[in-house]
Amino acid sequence: MEDILLSKENLYWRNKAREIAEDVVRPAAAEYDRKQEYPTPIKEALREAGLFKVWIPEEYGGAGGETPVLNLCLIVEELSRACGGVGVGFAVNALGSFPIILAGTPEQKERYLPDIAEGKRLIAFCLSERLAGSDAASMKALAVEDGDHYVLRGEKKWTTNGGVADIYTMFAVTDPESRSRRISAFVVEKDMEGFSIGKVEDKMGIRCIPVVETIFDGVRVPRENLLGGKPGYGFKHAMMTLDHARPGVAAQALGLAQGALEYALHWVCRRHAFGGPLSAQGQIQGRLADMQTKVSAARYLVYASARNIDRKARNINFLAAQAKLFATNTAMEVTTEAVQLFGGYGFMRDYPVEKYMRDAKITQIYEGTNEIQRLVIARNLIKSAAHYDFLEPYCPMPWLDEEAEEAHN
Ligand SMILES: Cc1cc2nc3c(=O)[nH]c(=O)nc-3n(C[C@H](O)[C@H](O)[C@H](O)COP(=O)(O)OP(=O)(O)OC[C@H]3O[C@@H](n4cnc5c(N)ncnc54)[C@H](O)[C@@H]3O)c2cc1C
Repeated sequence: MEDILLSKENLYWRNKAREIAEDVVRPAAAEYDRKQEYPTPIKEALREAGLFKVWIPEEYGGAGGETPVLNLCLIVEELSRACGGVGVGFAVNALGSFPIILAGTPEQKERYLPDIAEGKRLIAFCLSERLAGSDAASMKALAVEDGDHYVLRGEKKWTTNGGVADIYTMFAVTDPESRSRRISAFVVEKDMEGFSIGKVEDKMGIRCIPVVETIFDGVRVPRENLLGGKPGYGFKHAMMTLDHARPGVAAQALGLAQGALEYALHWVCRRHAFGGPLSAQGQIQGRLADMQTKVSAARYLVYASARNIDRKARNINFLAAQAKLFATNTAMEVTTEAVQLFGGYGFMRDYPVEKYMRDAKITQIYEGTNEIQRLVIARNLIKSAAHYDFLEPYCPMPWLDEEAEEAHN
């Protein structure tokens, strides 16, 4: 089905990722999850296959191509189909580097992007704080100018790939008095004095990928590491980044849903009860059909939202938020159904489906919870309400005139 939507270029990247997913990710996924260990050999396989190049512009060592964001999504989908942790561990490099791609100075791009494209250096994204998640603009981390440096102070919460990453895109307040230009973004390197890793989280899912506190205790960052060279645009850059990265989370969810569906199908066709395979039962068939239909619908939304970004459309957030909302809810539903279809075995760590369910949950939370996605979608919708003025003759509201007259008097 998906081939209808994909070009040769897309299939090239998808197949490369699929090969690695089957050769090295799936066989090792359960063990890395159990040990909560970063999968360095898998990262090396991804690097050797050139997969880190895919979303980076060609002039900075990237792969170029017509549809970098869709290619990224296809890779994340394939990796997540075998392991949701590996999927996000890869995708978060795009989240960390999008600020540089979208808003960095030419020198910043030159300095950082080629190494990221080579997979030589990993990059993470530090926006959230203990008391500032959905409401990221209320962050407290401070960046104070000091000659030709900024001094960063604050703690960031839940930095994915923290500790294994070499570079951190970090957001901090540069002008506490300003409403619209309060925040700026900085590129911080792990060896800069004052930077350290705090608590390493013990998580429900995506357990092979570290999620940590990152501590900025007087980190002196040269002015040339102020993203884009101008202060005050950090929040805008963070939002632009999330709009570009959300199809990636949606793709992670899609891969998890697809992977769990495949295991469920495999199981019900082989597990027997009441004189035949479970797949002969009408109720089971109906559930498989619903799972597949949701996965297909999620796939169309994910690919469309990625293509929308690749064609540089305006208002990319509308479709990106829908893709994230729908695909992540689908992942939660389908992975939970897969556990149910496995019966008691589904609940056991000896079988892979419980991990899919654990890995799926976080996709509804990070890079903007699904409640926040609904806000984005609804705001876009309400803004577009004027397009429906043509419905007025079919929908008379005479009280509106009366109310207007009353207000006027
Ligand atoms: C495993 C993991 C990895 C992460 N990785 C990163 C990372 O790499 N970088 C990074 O910067 N951050 C990261 N995060 C942070 C993540 O993006 C935030 O957890 C998320 O944005 C939600 O923020 P919060 O946890 O503070 O929840 P809160 O903002 O406190 O929200 C709590 C609940 O209230 C709801 N809510 C909040 N506001 C509204 C509203 N206006 N209307 C309706 N409901 C609302 C939320 O949807 C949620 O259900 C990660 C988090 C986790 C758990």
